[in-house]
Amino acid sequence: MTGKRIEAFRRRASDVLAPMRFRCLGCGADVFDDTGFCPRCVQRVTFNNGKTCKRCGVALDGEEDYCGNCAFEKTYFDRAYSPFVYDGLIRQAILDMKFNNLGANARVFARYLAYIAVREQLQYDVVTYAPMSAKSLKKRRYNQARLLAEEFCAILDKDALLADTVVKIRDTAPQEQLSGKERRQNLVGSYRFRQGADVKGKRVLLIDDVKTTGATVNECAKVLKSHGAAEVVALTVASRKEHIDFENKE
Ligand SMILES: [Zn+2]
Ligand SMILES: [Zn+2]
Repeated sequence: MTGKRIEAFRRRASDVLAPMRFRCLGCGADVFDDTGFCPRCVQRVTFNNGKTCKRCGVALDGEEDYCGNCAFEKTYFDRAYSPFVYDGLIRQAILDMKFNNLGANARVFARYLAYIAVREQLQYDVVTYAPMSAKSLKKRRYNQARLLAEEFCAILDKDALLADTVVKIRDTAPQEQLSGKERRQNLVGSYRFRQGADVKGKRVLLIDDVKTTGATVNECAKVLKSHGAAEVVALTVASRKEHIDFENKE
């Protein structure tokens, strides 16, 4: 083969292999499809595919249509979805994505977010993400929520819709270490609208990694709504299961 033909062949081979280059989110073994889990680890994943709250999308066990939060408290987002329940393997894979430099996990997770967007036929004019404070961003060097949003847009060919809209103006204690009430108070006044952004009359898709009490998503949605967003729908990789008391469990 001539040099050119070899090059063309190489390119074709890497095109074919590209979608298969996935590692299991649980054990790191190669997986040869885009599910992100090997056959053994997939059994340890809690998919959020049973009954869910009709507003915030958390897994529900009982007869109710809404979770305790949504039944009694005002939410600023219109709807939220998450493909996974925040526990076990998924929780670890999200923590790895955040703290252990495993940004590659975002690519796998974004496929699940894209799947939900297509399944639910979500309509949106802007794709945005939950911001980090400048101080945290400097320390971690990347925002996993932004990575998810970038990968999501790339998968669905919506790069033009990605926008920075919300800024986190101060550092807050890590949400996971706080009780529900503390989490909500922790974030009050921590976000503001990004100067020059425009969401007036627009439908906004807000992406984040985890929704536990929903406080982060709610605060961001509040900012977006107060600047004229017509609708805010949140997509998070995982959400806590209703009735699990993280305060005692974690
Ligand atoms: Zn595995
Ligand atoms: Zn709910």
